[in-house]
Amino acid sequence: MQVHQYDVVIVGAGGAGMRAAIEAGQRAHTAVLTKLYPTRSHTGAAQGGMCAALANVEEDNWEWHTFDTIKGGDYLVDQDAAEVMAKEAIDAVLDLEHMGLPFNRTPEGKIDQRRFGGHTRDHGKAPVRRACYAADRTGHMILQTLYQNCVKHNVEFYNEVYVLDVLLNETEATREDGTSYLQKHVSGVVTYDLSTGEIAVFQAKAVVFATGGAGKVFKTTSNAHTLTGDGMAMAFRRGIPLEDMEFVQFHPTGLAGLGILLSEAARGEGAVLRNSEGERFMERYAPTIKDLAPRDIVARSMANEVREGRGSGPNKDYVLLDLTHLEPAHIDAKLPDITEFARTYLGVEPYTEPVPVFPTAHYVMGGIPTNIKGEVLQDNDTVVPGLYAAGEVACVSVHGSNRLGTNSLLDINVFGKRSGIAAAEYSKTADFVELPENPAEFVEDLVAHVRENNGTERVALIRKDLQDTMDLNMQVFRSGDTIAEALKDIESLRERYKNIGIQDKGKRFNLDLLEAIELGFLLDLAEVMTVSALHRQESRGGHYREDFPDRDDANFMKHTMIYKDEDAVTEGIKGMRFDTKPVIFTRYEPMERKY
Ligand SMILES: Cc1cc2nc3c(=O)[nH]c(=O)nc-3n(C[C@H](O)[C@H](O)[C@H](O)COP(=O)(O)OP(=O)(O)OC[C@H]3O[C@@H](n4cnc5c(N)ncnc54)[C@H](O)[C@@H]3O)c2cc1C
Repeated sequence: MQVHQYDVVIVGAGGAGMRAAIEAGQRAHTAVLTKLYPTRSHTGAAQGGMCAALANVEEDNWEWHTFDTIKGGDYLVDQDAAEVMAKEAIDAVLDLEHMGLPFNRTPEGKIDQRRFGGHTRDHGKAPVRRACYAADRTGHMILQTLYQNCVKHNVEFYNEVYVLDVLLNETEATREDGTSYLQKHVSGVVTYDLSTGEIAVFQAKAVVFATGGAGKVFKTTSNAHTLTGDGMAMAFRRGIPLEDMEFVQFHPTGLAGLGILLSEAARGEGAVLRNSEGERFMERYAPTIKDLAPRDIVARSMANEVREGRGSGPNKDYVLLDLTHLEPAHIDAKLPDITEFARTYLGVEPYTEPVPVFPTAHYVMGGIPTNIKGEVLQDNDTVVPGLYAAGEVACVSVHGSNRLGTNSLLDINVFGKRSGIAAAEYSKTADFVELPENPAEFVEDLVAHVRENNGTERVALIRKDLQDTMDLNMQVFRSGDTIAEALKDIESLRERYKNIGIQDKGKRFNLDLLEAIELGFLLDLAEVMTVSALHRQESRGGHYREDFPDRDDANFMKHTMIYKDEDAVTEGIKGMRFDTKPVIFTRYEPMERKY
């Protein structure tokens, strides 16, 4: 078996991975491992924008941006991280500009900015223009720009190489208070090459996880088929906790019945939501900023309109996004792609007809816990030396219980850069950690099991049943009963998963095999999400419990931490340990969240 050696290995070539690679690649011997060709990463599908308080078109400052991010996240945001992100946003945009990104411009030649949900002037007084954009293809431009700059800096890519395990050794260590614990150290990752089926080891002094989100846990989602939460699940299986996994964002405007995203930029440019009576209903739910309220509020309001019988269409099961009052030339200039989606997939002409929309699973706020340097935490206070995470896979936590639109493209740039620098600097003084005796054993067993198991269950059917129960029971509205129902289903799906059989037994381009492994990741994460959701008996941000409709700061102003632990039982589930982590406050006291 081949063993490669690098100072820094970055797992993932989306925005976070490539932003990290640009930094690490200039400082240390770096490789990027990615299951997709880099420019196919989901960052390339991002539409609306990336925010920074540039104040190019109206008054703005990073302190307002910090406040909006914290309030948008319903106060579960770690405030030190939000400050870092809002402050460094300005350079993050300018870095991209200098790398060659073709932003839309104002007539004076400055980077243009537009409105997005939850971004406001002076602590909520009115919407502010903070999102920098390149039409509705901002993510595409970011991804291409970062890739070109990686090529320029001779970053080494291993494309269509799946990382399936992270190697963490453990040593006895003692805390300051004299108690002993097991300190984890990263020694590398284990890979599976799609084209050959070969398993290899990459030994590294530092490893950066940048594997993106897990939207495919749900059926109705804006996410690409590849977003199966691999990084989160791999870390979890090796004893790293997952933080705040109950918080999944449902984006208000997915194309009805399909989930394909229509960017919030549409509302930023002036589109409004209407119910079957033609009413602009957001005026009732968020009187000040209306259709530009944060996503959790808009998604809930839409679902509520449908519930109360004011939905549109033959089944009254969606609402309408109305752009008909906008000039066609304006739509073509600012929203060309998403309006084309409406024509192609729903046969609706947005110039003249409102577009049917309904919330779609979009973003995982939780993930692998890190501090503001991107260092991964093995518990509330202990860093795993050499292990980093950035982007949607990580929970730093800048998004708390609800992310504001355009804050993710920002997050991946700010914390991608930070973790790339930190990993490279760490590798300069660190030694390689010795590899375990049979480093690839776990992956060899996993692959052999999936390939050779001649069970009767089909991967696609288990995945469908998982996505169906998550859509039904873990959506915008949840309750103890529905979450428990989902959890029960997941447990039985896990049993069925043991009995899978795949048809392709070959080594070359065996996507059958990899989809089966990815389904294993999805099942693990769905279980963590539901257990976390069951435990949080309150409503906050993207997590709305009908049986506990209020935010409960006295009992739940803390992060959820779920650990894999064979000896523990949480919410009736064996093998999971529950803990909490304090939220970091700097200067913003939790307030009632009105918009
Ligand atoms: C349709 C859509 C529109 C969006 N629009 C916006 C927007 O306008 N503004 C905004 O701020 N946010 C937006 N978002 C959110 C934002 O785009 C994502 O959260 C962000 O791009 C994630 O970046 P990332 O680098 O963390 O992950 P990704 O870009 O998803 O990249 C993940 C990388 O990890 C690799 N990978 C995964 N698993 C493995 C494995 N096992 N082994 C090896 N490699 C692996 C993949 O190959 C890929 O390269 C949008 C999201 C979607 C889905």
